[in-house]
Amino acid sequence: MSSTVRLAVVAVARPVGGEYTYAAPEALVPRLSPGVRVRVPFGRGTSLAFFLGFAEGAPQSVLDKLKPIDAVLDDSPSLTPDVVALVRFAAQHYRHPLGEALKAALPPGLSDAQQDEVAAKADTISWAQVRADADPALLSRAPAQQAVVSYLLAVGGRAMVDELEHALPGAKASLKRLAERGLVTLTKTVVAPTVAEGLGSVRHAALTDDQQAAVQALTAAFDSRSFKPFLLHGVTGSGKTEVYLQLVEHARAAGRGALVLVPEIALTPQLVGRFRARFGPDVAVLHSALKDRERLVHWQALRKGAVHIAVGVRSAIFAPVPSLGVVVVDEEHDGSFKQEDKLRYHARDLAVVRAQKADCLVVLGSATPSLETLENARRGRYTRLVMPRRVDDRPMPKLGLVDLRLERPRTPENRGTEPPVLSVPLREALAQTLDKGQQAILFLNRRGHATYIVCEVCGQSLKCEHCDVCLTLHQSSRRLVCHYCGDWKPKPAKCPDCDGTLLELGVGTQRIEAEVADAFPAARVARLDRDAASTAERLTDLLASFARREIDVLVGTQMVAKGHDFPGVTLVAVVLADSALAMPDFRAAERTFQLLTQVAGRAGRGKDEGQVLVQSYNPDAPPIARMLAQDYDGFCEDELKRRRALAWPPFSRLAALRVDGTSPELTARHTKALAAALAAKLPPPSAGV
Ligand code: ADP
Ligand code: ZN
Repeated sequence: MSSTVRLAVVAVARPVGGEYTYAAPEALVPRLSPGVRVRVPFGRGTSLAFFLGFAEGAPQSVLDKLKPIDAVLDDSPSLTPDVVALVRFAAQHYRHPLGEALKAALPPGLSDAQQDEVAAKADTISWAQVRADADPALLSRAPAQQAVVSYLLAVGGRAMVDELEHALPGAKASLKRLAERGLVTLTKTVVAPTVAEGLGSVRHAALTDDQQAAVQALTAAFDSRSFKPFLLHGVTGSGKTEVYLQLVEHARAAGRGALVLVPEIALTPQLVGRFRARFGPDVAVLHSALKDRERLVHWQALRKGAVHIAVGVRSAIFAPVPSLGVVVVDEEHDGSFKQEDKLRYHARDLAVVRAQKADCLVVLGSATPSLETLENARRGRYTRLVMPRRVDDRPMPKLGLVDLRLERPRTPENRGTEPPVLSVPLREALAQTLDKGQQAILFLNRRGHATYIVCEVCGQSLKCEHCDVCLTLHQSSRRLVCHYCGDWKPKPAKCPDCDGTLLELGVGTQRIEAEVADAFPAARVARLDRDAASTAERLTDLLASFARREIDVLVGTQMVAKGHDFPGVTLVAVVLADSALAMPDFRAAERTFQLLTQVAGRAGRGKDEGQVLVQSYNPDAPPIARMLAQDYDGFCEDELKRRRALAWPPFSRLAALRVDGTSPELTARHTKALAAALAAKLPPPSAGV
């Protein structure tokens, strides 16, 4: 081997640790820059890999086996230096092979060892713009066109044609007709480094004082051009979106890009719409419901510097936003920011790391910040900005409790059976709402099919003595099992505290839907959960028809609790607050508080005042009592004390180790040995604080 050969260090996109050294053929050297995709011989075939840099030398054993890089797949790096740095951190922090992590940061079209040509062709984007005064009601004879117009209005007037066709198959034909009628304008933009058009549309006449103060603090921090993390703590309806918009506008005026993460695009079309309305085609939308090619178009537009704002779900944390100046995480408490397989990252945490590496501003926004974020604010690591009032002095909804212990069946033969899910007060409130032609949301957090147990007298659900986490009933063995420490006991006949009858509750959204339909035959009832809205299209449809008031009562899981802004909703009912509380999760109390507060925040966002009814067997449970008192600070104060006492996060870190194997006995033996070895090394939990 000649001494002039350059040594290239690459990460191979395979489940193998470490970095590999290859020879860089002279002809390829000029095209190699960090982050470029390459193809290398690997094992018996070839593999996608990422060039990381040149090495000065290598041990003779490596040099003897050195193979050359096959091909360079990009003309310019697929991954920008800041994204490579972020992924390096993530691979290390979450213990994932670097090459696979880098691959996970790419959109699907680039994550195999293909040349860049497909991607290079995707350089024009077709847009549809609806006339601002278009009225979908006038199109009732042409439902397909009506749907397109409604969609466009819902997303701020303008959308990519590909996106429309995806959401509403056949949309292209409807758009043609709408264009002929003059209701829609069709344009094309070429993906090239141009300044964005269409800036400066809808904007509110005046910011509220709270918004003004927040924008001022954030833009001042932006101007200091250094890493500054903020918590924007604003109640539901306080107008956080407008604060993000003005901040991003400020960043754009300074020539910088912005990254905005949201929990789930299909559930937050309004936020995307507002960004589109304000920044036009300068916004790339990144979410999993897009077809691969569409996602690639958006992603390439960012990478080529044609588009400067990315709005997307958790995976957008790796988006190649040019000259990043601001990172926003909306609804930062949301569980969907956690990726649960392969590279198991938390996008909110990576957002802070990314901002740190880019020396820029990061804003975590929520009405119910996570305890991790709150604790960071309390320790002075993050600056907390508070917006305690709704815009326009709209009142917060009135909160009421329905104590289900008082509603339980009293006849002896009915004891221990489930009460009807619609209590008398809830039935009355629903009747009144429907009479007035207003809308209602009924919320039940029912995860999976786990039945949970609650004492009908004291309202307690049974908890593990060691972990203070709710026990799960395993039906076949009739055992109560702790999913944290594995401890179990047979299901007792009576409540161990008060001797009351233990109810096994198995209500789900389907049953509530049926009961409402039974009780109110004239009402239009629909269900929103993973079964009813299995596709993004179905979900968009459901939300759109609820917004058009074609549905009176929407029954759903946490999908109804997200940041929706439906002005017609005046009644929100939490059918069984206890079901969230009974999650076998140390965060159950926090999640319950957040869920209840978020779902309550859907009520009374229009001109009519809102009412919230919370049904519970356990109204004294802290998250429920504090939520009814609208006391976030008090709840957090107590919950942080409990977390500290039990050494749960944010006062410790939890890691899950998964052991895979082909032989059950061997795997079990190794797992036990590993657990014993680790237990001997770790300090006892309480000492870890
Ligand atoms: P949040 O995200 O804090 O729950 P939103 O950003 O959805 O609140 O704002 C709630 C509503 O108030 C939206 O309909 C929004 O258009 C409106 N809004 C926001 N800021 C103002 C303002 N300064 N004046 C009037 N209306 C506003
Ligand atoms: Zn336990």
